[in-house]
Amino acid sequence: MTRIASHRGGTLEFGDSTPQGFAATAAMALEEVEFDLHPTRDGAIMVHHDPTLDRTTDRSGAIAELTEAEVRAATINYGAGGHPISLAELCAIFRPGRVGFRCEIKPGADGLAYRDFVPEVVATLKREGMLERTVFSSFLLDTLTELGSETTRPRLWLVSPPVLRQLGPAALFDLARRRDLAEIGLHVDTADAALMAGAQAAGLEFGVWAAHDAARIGKALDLGVKVFTTDRPSLAIALRRAHRGAGA
Ligand code: FE
Repeated sequence: MTRIASHRGGTLEFGDSTPQGFAATAAMALEEVEFDLHPTRDGAIMVHHDPTLDRTTDRSGAIAELTEAEVRAATINYGAGGHPISLAELCAIFRPGRVGFRCEIKPGADGLAYRDFVPEVVATLKREGMLERTVFSSFLLDTLTELGSETTRPRLWLVSPPVLRQLGPAALFDLARRRDLAEIGLHVDTADAALMAGAQAAGLEFGVWAAHDAARIGKALDLGVKVFTTDRPSLAIALRRAHRGAGA
């Protein structure tokens, strides 16, 4: 069965990385929650997509240059008044249930990986009892390699359309295998059955991201990918139910 990952807690249904969206996701009939992490200036690990608060909240500034209190003071747009939460709080929301973590390690506002961040993330997940329910993702190959030195949990490479275009499938699969990665994730619009078969033949699991509308969710279900991320988890659950009911 194709797995559903609620992207940032279901951005189009609950706002971007909101506590309400994560709480709702924890109670849904799906398998994974996708989220992104950034460090604060004073060493907290916060759950937020962008490296800055500018686009998605009523505050501004780079999370890495703000204190935890300053980040928590931000109100998330279209998020029912919710504020950014920490990784530990996210763990508390999901610990009692069955939904697994799909943890993305983001770069900072300068596009570079945060220094000494990965070990803190892994240690926090372990301390909070969620490491064994986590798969890690990143667009950054070096971050994935760093993760590999900290944990044996599965790591997946998020492949952007330009990277796919430039490398081509053969070089892409080869690079993923050399880096000992378990899975690749392509933008749903760039995925097709031949690419999926190629990845699987190379020993890689195959997922897609950005399946945010009915057509793209349907494409992911028809392909039979391992997993897709979606900003509309409720819609995805309904469509998967219908798809299975149709015997597809
Ligand atoms: Fe992400």
